[in-house]
Amino acid sequence: MDTIPIILSRQRDFFKSQKMKDVPYRLSLLKALKKEIIASEHAIYDALKKDFKKPEFETFISEFGLVMSELNLAIKNLKKWARPKRVRSSILTFPVRDYIYKEPYGNILIIAPWNYPFLLAIEPLIMAIAAGNTVILKPSELTKHTSQRIADIVQRTFPEAVATTIEGGVEIATELLAQKWDYIFFTGSVPVGKIVARAAAKHLTPVTLELGGKSPCIIDDTANLKLAARRISWGKFLNAGQTCIAADYIIIKSNIKDVFIDALKIEIVKRYGDNPKDSSDLPRIINKKNVQRIADMLAGSQVIFGGHVDVENCYIAPTLIDTPHLDSKIMRDEIFGPVLPILTYDTEQDIEHIIWNGNKPLALYVFSKNNTFVEQTIKKYNFGGGVVNDLLIHFGNHRLPFGGVGASGMGAYHGKTGFNTFSHHKAISKRGNWLDPSVRYAPYKGKLGLLKKMFKYFS
Ligand code: NAD
Repeated sequence: MDTIPIILSRQRDFFKSQKMKDVPYRLSLLKALKKEIIASEHAIYDALKKDFKKPEFETFISEFGLVMSELNLAIKNLKKWARPKRVRSSILTFPVRDYIYKEPYGNILIIAPWNYPFLLAIEPLIMAIAAGNTVILKPSELTKHTSQRIADIVQRTFPEAVATTIEGGVEIATELLAQKWDYIFFTGSVPVGKIVARAAAKHLTPVTLELGGKSPCIIDDTANLKLAARRISWGKFLNAGQTCIAADYIIIKSNIKDVFIDALKIEIVKRYGDNPKDSSDLPRIINKKNVQRIADMLAGSQVIFGGHVDVENCYIAPTLIDTPHLDSKIMRDEIFGPVLPILTYDTEQDIEHIIWNGNKPLALYVFSKNNTFVEQTIKKYNFGGGVVNDLLIHFGNHRLPFGGVGASGMGAYHGKTGFNTFSHHKAISKRGNWLDPSVRYAPYKGKLGLLKKMFKYFS
């Protein structure tokens, strides 16, 4: 295989050829990608099953289906999105017509994580290509079967000078980050996000960082508790809790805690049976290292449900933890597994104390029928995005931008926002020649009064 600098230099040359500016060409690439993905559907399910026993149902709902929606959306709207957009002009610069041109950045690096290994590699690829960039994509080395499938699909779809996959781990990622890119799109953990940001800063390369953190789920005493338990048992244990926007922990009004815990236990048993290890619907933890990491969090915690850990088989049962200390490991680090701590509150200051104890979350959830409480909560805390009375579903609407804030990330994508993320918005004013008022030209004597009036009335 050619070295990274050689492949990148081919992509640079290809970008300079202007072929990526051709919208019909980009459309043909997206249609080819769609054909390859459809042809690989079962191989994709198979790969994720091999990687961490992800059930086909979950792969469809949380990876394949979302990728296909995004791809169809891009194919349907690309011509419209790519067109220069005329905007209202200022009378101060009359006669003029003003436009925003969407131009591709150029050569893009995408680094993907393992937890939704197909979705989080292919979705940014779709929008980067739609916007007219070339791409080098590095999937996660931890999901090696999915990584191979992605590499096959990309290789069969794109000329190498347009897009290619480079598989590998930290070493390869480090080598990739040492190159000069026009944009870097990274999804992964906060510590690696900082490494990416440092590498990008060297060349002032713009970045999107889709990171993680601890996302709280607040339940007040007006909430429909049975429904909350049902929905949380879905959103928390989907993908075995290995979801960046999973509820990391619950903060519940103290007077309803016991009723909620009982309801949640019932729902977990309904989902996965009395022995979740036998359930084919519960994925495994990605590797032994991560099982051990989560097991270390459980040590010293008060387990009130589940708690079974089998390192050899990468299994952790859906587990509930009662009232951990805020300075315990489980409340300091992102859990990223099927373990749910339950904390209580009595006053709003209690909630503030818990949430402001950590970084700005990627997601925040609130279960309540009290609109005032809901609105106050949404407005009080900084977080990437969230849901009222459910988990995760904001991810599924392409009209909502998806991204973090503060330590949970910077930038956003999904749908048209994704296309815009991979496009530089170039401002262009086209001036008419038939009028050229003399007010801006020296000598200025006697013109300032008129200028001030024009600014007052027309700006
Ligand atoms: P990770 O940061 O360990 O790895 C992500 C990618 O970075 C992988 O491709 C990996 O090979 C690469 N990488 C690892 N170490 C590197 C280094 N030192 N230098 C350069 N690259 C390196 O993350 P992960 O374990 O794959 O994923 C889990 C994390 O990702 C969680 O924190 C989760 O919250 C976050 N996440 C965020 C989103 C989001 O959309 N915001 C989505 C999924 C996961």
